[in-house]
Amino acid sequence: MAKSNLDIFKVGVGPSSSHTLGPMLAAAAFLQKLGTGVEKTVQVKCTLYGSLSLTGRGHLTDKAVLWGLSGLKPSDLTPTLQQEAVSLAFTEHRLRLGGQHEIHFDYRSDLTFSKEFLPEHQNALTLEALDAQGRSICAETYFSTGGGFIKTKAQLNSEQAGAGDEADFGDKFSIENTKVALRLCQDDSLNLAELSLRYELQFHDLPYIENWCREIWQVMQEAFEHGLKPANPYLPGSLHLKRRAPSMLSVLQEHNDPFAVIDKVSLYAISIAEENASGAKVVTAPTNGACAVVPAVLLYLKDNAPHFDDRLVRDFLLTGMLIGSFYKNNATISGAEGGCQAEIGSASSMAAAAMTTVMGGDAFKACAAAEIAMEHHLGLTCDPVDGLVQIPCIERNAFGAVKAITAARIALKRQSQPRVSLDEVIKTMYITGKDISFKYKETALGGLAELQLDH
Ligand code: SF4
Repeated sequence: MAKSNLDIFKVGVGPSSSHTLGPMLAAAAFLQKLGTGVEKTVQVKCTLYGSLSLTGRGHLTDKAVLWGLSGLKPSDLTPTLQQEAVSLAFTEHRLRLGGQHEIHFDYRSDLTFSKEFLPEHQNALTLEALDAQGRSICAETYFSTGGGFIKTKAQLNSEQAGAGDEADFGDKFSIENTKVALRLCQDDSLNLAELSLRYELQFHDLPYIENWCREIWQVMQEAFEHGLKPANPYLPGSLHLKRRAPSMLSVLQEHNDPFAVIDKVSLYAISIAEENASGAKVVTAPTNGACAVVPAVLLYLKDNAPHFDDRLVRDFLLTGMLIGSFYKNNATISGAEGGCQAEIGSASSMAAAAMTTVMGGDAFKACAAAEIAMEHHLGLTCDPVDGLVQIPCIERNAFGAVKAITAARIALKRQSQPRVSLDEVIKTMYITGKDISFKYKETALGGLAELQLDH
């Protein structure tokens, strides 16, 4: 089913697309479903299930639900607005539904962290609005499926039954996988960016797409800049981690180190990943945990590519989103479903193909780069210490970016044919993800998350 891929990149709120952005958007969707019922509502109850419950506090899931119920949108978020909504609920026990209708809210009884896993998906939450007589006005269960995408129970069930939940786009062409993409590129002598643009023009006009790319790039750059000068030198949460981007920048500026090019890539990634960990505005790319990989490679190109301009940014993002759509539609981009390979691995794969394309590589080379990048993330588990998107997540973004650059350069210079296709590695990632124990899929129950670090 043809559907625009622009939302593979979206303005989101940290630290997690599945655990923060998704629940926030679910709360916003619930408000919309509630409609005029808001006026009669005196109580809202929320239950978090599965992974949303196990790592919800560390991922700010509880606060994200409050932001969504308060009518805040990701693109409008500021630290002040976020703090206002949280203080109102935590300190004054009040919630301003949709930003207007104020109700009593008791964090301890109205928000439940359930140990239960719902059978449909690891990340689930139920919202219910009640009237003055305690009668249910509206209730819905949402599943946060990764990358800030949410589905209701009905949507998930119809999708699993093969019916799909997207609008019918009639005679629009679709690009289901790499095999189809490569055939289309070969038939019309296109690279991946050109194919992706042709595809997106079915849904939006060119000025819209170009403007959207500029906005996404702008938020990426702002996240990097903000990360260099944070208001608070420490990240929130139990680990009391000091943010490293400011000192990394000082060291880079003070020393004339010929090997610093790689350190700069790490700086880009760590600065943005620290912004994400602080709960700030970033671009989900394709998830928040992996939000710094794609922009770090783009910032590296800004430093080094001979002709860096808006056109290069546009082609980079168009290529990245097309590759991201293959992971989202044919496997998963959720750490709770596939482990970190699905998040950092997908982001690295997207960035590798994007860099290869803007450096002049054809569709075959770009897909080869994407395959190489994922091949060396296979099996990567998700085990965030204390359920925070900090250790190992922040550094992992730097490694994802460096691997993407390495993969792009290997693919661009390669003289022989690759033996493994991108479709095959995507499938392998998905199967591997299914085989990984649930302990290593965003539950903070295994791996590094089992360490008792000094707090
Ligand atoms: S380990 Fe990877 S998948 Fe898990 S929270 Fe961190 S970045 Fe996301």
